[in-house]
Amino acid sequence: MTDFKLLIDGEEKTGSTGVWEDVFDPASGQVIGRVTHAGTDDLDRAMEAALRGLAEWSRVTPWDRGAILKASADILRQRKEVLGRELTREQGKPLRDAIGEVDRSADFMEWGGEQARRVCDQALIGRDRNNRIVVETHPIGVVAAFTPWNFPMALAAKKFAGALGAGCSIICKPSEETPASVLGLVRALLDAGVPPAAVGVVFGVPAEVSSYLIPARQISKITFTGSIPVGKMLAAEAGRAMKPVTMELGGHAPVIVCKDTDPAAIADFLVAKKFANAGQICLSPTRFFVEEPIYETFVERFVACAEQIRVGDGTNPETQMGPLANARRLEAISGLVEDARNRGAKVLTGGQRIGNIGNFYAPTVLTEVPADARILKEEPFGPVAPILRFDDEEDMLREANGLEYGLSAYLFTNDARRQRRLSDALQVGTLGINDVPTHLPEVPLGGWKESGYGTEGGQSILDPYQKTKFVSHR
Ligand code: NAD
Repeated sequence: MTDFKLLIDGEEKTGSTGVWEDVFDPASGQVIGRVTHAGTDDLDRAMEAALRGLAEWSRVTPWDRGAILKASADILRQRKEVLGRELTREQGKPLRDAIGEVDRSADFMEWGGEQARRVCDQALIGRDRNNRIVVETHPIGVVAAFTPWNFPMALAAKKFAGALGAGCSIICKPSEETPASVLGLVRALLDAGVPPAAVGVVFGVPAEVSSYLIPARQISKITFTGSIPVGKMLAAEAGRAMKPVTMELGGHAPVIVCKDTDPAAIADFLVAKKFANAGQICLSPTRFFVEEPIYETFVERFVACAEQIRVGDGTNPETQMGPLANARRLEAISGLVEDARNRGAKVLTGGQRIGNIGNFYAPTVLTEVPADARILKEEPFGPVAPILRFDDEEDMLREANGLEYGLSAYLFTNDARRQRRLSDALQVGTLGINDVPTHLPEVPLGGWKESGYGTEGGQSILDPYQKTKFVSHR
C-alpha cells in the first residue's frame, strides 16, 4: 500500500483537506494505495514555489537546461523496469508497453532538452541605419498542466519537456487514478538537477483544482490532455482569465480500407493497432470503413485475429491486452455496445466483460451498426471496433468527416490518385497512409475541429511555453 502525496518544493506533503482517495489495480480491483487531496492552501504553496522556481530555472542557460533534461532522460531509462511495473499496476497495460511508455517519456525529455539548446532571440535590421530590432524569447511563466490516465507518464512528459525546455516552471495535476507515473517522472527530473521549486505535483478533486489554478494570477499558461467536454470547460475558464491554452482532446478516427489492398494483411495490422492500450488512445482507429469487394474477407480475418488476443493481467508476459483502466470505462464501453446491439448491430465477437474481477472487457467487433448508434458519434476509448461497408467514396467521406472530432484518420490504398484525393479531403491533424503512427517527440501532434488546438512535440515543442518581446533599439 502506497501513500501518494503532493510534491511541492521538492517535499512530499499530505494535503490539508485530510481527504484520501483509493487507488486501484485495474487487473485485480484491489486497492494498491491512496492519494492525498490538496486544499487551496496547498495549491497556494505550490504556486508560490513555482514562482520562485520560475525565477531560478529561467536563469539557467538554455545549454544547461538542455543538459539537465537530457540527464533526466537517462535516469528514466535506468529506472524503466521499476517505473514500468508501477505504471502497469496502476493503469493495467502490459508491462512491455509500460516500459515502452517510460522509454517514450525519456525520448520526450531528451528532445525537449535538445530543443532547449536551440532557444534564441532574433535580430532584425531596422528600416533605417539607426534602428536595430531584437525579438527576445522568454519563458511564458508558470504552467498549470492537467494530464490523463491512459498514458500517464508519456502525456505528462510532453508537457514537462516543453515547459521546462522553455525555462518555465510547472505544476501538474495528474489523474488521481494513476498518481505514481507523474511522481516517478518528476523524481527523475529532480534527481537530474531541476530546481525543486520548478516542478510541483498536486492531486485533488479535478474541477476544484483546475478552477482554483486557472484564474490564479501566478499561472500564465494552461495545458490539458483529456476529453472534449472537460477541455471546453477548462478553455472557457482560461478564456475568462485571458490565459493561453493548449488542448489535446479526443478523437474518433476513421480508417478507410480500399479494395485494392490485401484485406487479410491489413486486418492483421489493424487489430494490433486497434486493441493497443485496450483501445484507450486518443489516436486509436475507431470507425472502420471497408470497401464492398473486400469487406467480407476483411471482417472475417479481423474477427479471427481479435479472438486470438490474449487478455489478462499486464504483469503476465503472455498478456497482449490488459484491463480497462478504470471501472468508469468498463461501464461506458458496456453502454456503447448495448446501445448498438439494441439498435440492431451484430456483435461478431466479444461484447461483454470478461469475468467479474478487474476491468477486463473482451476485444469486440460490431457490424451492421446503424447510423444512429451512439458508438458512431461518441469516442469509444475502449476495445470496440465498429466495421462499416462502403461502395460510394463521397458518401463514405461525408461520414468520415461528419463528426466534430478531427484528431486522426487512416487510409489504406496503393492507388496514388485515391491517396491524394482522400488525404487532401480528410479533416484531421494526423493522417496515416498505409500506417497507424504513434506520437514521436520529433513530430508536432495536434487536433483539428473540436479535437483541440495547439500542438505538442516537434521542432516547435517549446513554442506553447514561450512569449516574445519586441525590443527596438535606437
Ligand atoms: P473525464 O472527461 O472525466 O476526464 C478526462 C481527464 O480529465 C481525466 O484525466 C480527469 O482527471 C481530467 N479531468 C476531468 N475533469 C477535470 C477538470 N474539471 N479539471 C481538470 N481535469 C479534469 O473522462 P474519463 O472518464 O476520465 O475519460 C474518458 C474520456 O476522456 C474518453 O472518452 C476520452 O475522450 C478522454 N480522454 C482522452 C485522452 C487523450 O489522450 N486525449 C486521455 C484520457 C481520456
